Amino acid sequence: MENTRGNLMLYNSLTGKKEKFIPLHKDFVGLYVCGPTVYNYVHLGNCRTFISFDMVYRYLKHIGYKVRYVRNITDAGHLENDAEEGEDKIAKKARLEQLEPMEVVQYYTVDFHKVLEQFNNLPPSIEPTATGHIVEQIELVQKIIDKGLAYVVNGSVYFDVEKYDSQTDYGELSGRRIEELMAGTRALDGQDEKKSPLDFALWKNAKPEHIMKWPSPWGIGFPGWHLECSAMSTKYLGDQFDLHGGGMDLKFPHHECEIAQGHAATGVKPVRYWMHANMLTLNGKKMSKSTGNTLLPRELFSGENDVLEKAYDPIVVRFFIMQAHYRSTLDFSSEALSASEKGFYRLMEAQKLVEQLPTTKEESSIDTKSLVSQCYAAMNDDFNTPILIAHLFDLVKQIHQINNGTEKISESDKLLLQKEFNGFIFDVLGLKQLETTEDNSLDKVMELVLEMRQKARQEKDWATSDAIRDKLVEAGIVVKDGKDGVTWSKS
Ligand code: AMP
Ligand code: ZN
Repeated sequence: MENTRGNLMLYNSLTGKKEKFIPLHKDFVGLYVCGPTVYNYVHLGNCRTFISFDMVYRYLKHIGYKVRYVRNITDAGHLENDAEEGEDKIAKKARLEQLEPMEVVQYYTVDFHKVLEQFNNLPPSIEPTATGHIVEQIELVQKIIDKGLAYVVNGSVYFDVEKYDSQTDYGELSGRRIEELMAGTRALDGQDEKKSPLDFALWKNAKPEHIMKWPSPWGIGFPGWHLECSAMSTKYLGDQFDLHGGGMDLKFPHHECEIAQGHAATGVKPVRYWMHANMLTLNGKKMSKSTGNTLLPRELFSGENDVLEKAYDPIVVRFFIMQAHYRSTLDFSSEALSASEKGFYRLMEAQKLVEQLPTTKEESSIDTKSLVSQCYAAMNDDFNTPILIAHLFDLVKQIHQINNGTEKISESDKLLLQKEFNGFIFDVLGLKQLETTEDNSLDKVMELVLEMRQKARQEKDWATSDAIRDKLVEAGIVVKDGKDGVTWSKS
């Protein structure tokens, strides 16, 4: 397609505008996304953000960029309530469960990978951990101290926000002004070691009971949460890189602090385009670990949650997520997911149909090129997947009309259609044909088995009908007798 790369516009949270995407290096894009703090199962909200950036990664690759995608694992330094005080989230979980902190980290990291694989996310190019980059974090703190923008108190190091703000503008990403921020904080009570309540920790002195701690020039301690992303992103992508993403809730203070740290250390703003994915809500409220308003991926895949009428395949859930723009909020409901499921199967049936479409030796009666261009235009407009999907459904309509002879397609247009349709469905949206859409032989066998069961029941042959049910259970198939008839699913 003609120069799709040069046409990509994306919404930069830093400027609040859609901008033409021009990477620092011609063919290469550096992308950093904040990863999870691995002390709990990821919920569907977290997954929405990671699936959104997987789509961004996929599309950049699709239009020919070489992308280095770095997504970290936070395995230290993230304190409770995102505050400066309190316990480390991972250390607390380890204490409560009587585990080593690294057992907690390993368990939830493995789970996180498994879940994202089920959603067909591609792995990042590099997945660095905070504990594996303590040396880099210490070096970064030292650089900021050397620039006079951080100070040491009692073995802790704090970023001097007011001094930084006097030289540059702190708060440019979140649009907060330092005076407003000051008004919203409590006054320091004399006990506080910080110069200003706005200052944030780069390095914290560890109390003797603190488990995860490391030696540093300022004493034994641990790094601040904001610092790790600055250290790891710039280590692998350079002092300044193209794209940085994360959920909307990370804009302040996490990303604001990343800008300040990077800029203070190197004199350049670390990120050219900031991208923020909006929140998934449940019952109108943000899905969140701390409030318990969550839906876990495994509950979706098994149907075991009261908000669900049945189980859903992870790829259907992915399609549901892709039907909303990444910058819009998305409210989860069983009805919406069920509607997505129907759409998904319609799309995937058409994908199979494309391969066997009849062709004409004459000219095509449809303008395949412009239909395909519309799809690129949607994606080039800040990764607008809902519009892309609407255009793919326009193509589905055409595919059926070609199939029933109302429209005609030439061999070369058919090849183009097939390549691009598959490209958008599989490579960009990251969907997959599911077993049930690929092979319906099990459906047919089940139809027969359920008919036999029904006949046995009508004849009051309970021994046969029970034997059928038991054998099905053994085979991992659950049969339900509902008011709308008999349904079955794989358990
Ligand atoms: P955490 O492990 O809490 O830092 O979250 C990991 C990622 O999930 C971050 O990018 C968050 O912004 C994102 N996130 C958290 N809650 C939601 C939500 N309800 N919807 C979408 N993204 C979320
Ligand atoms: Zn981060």
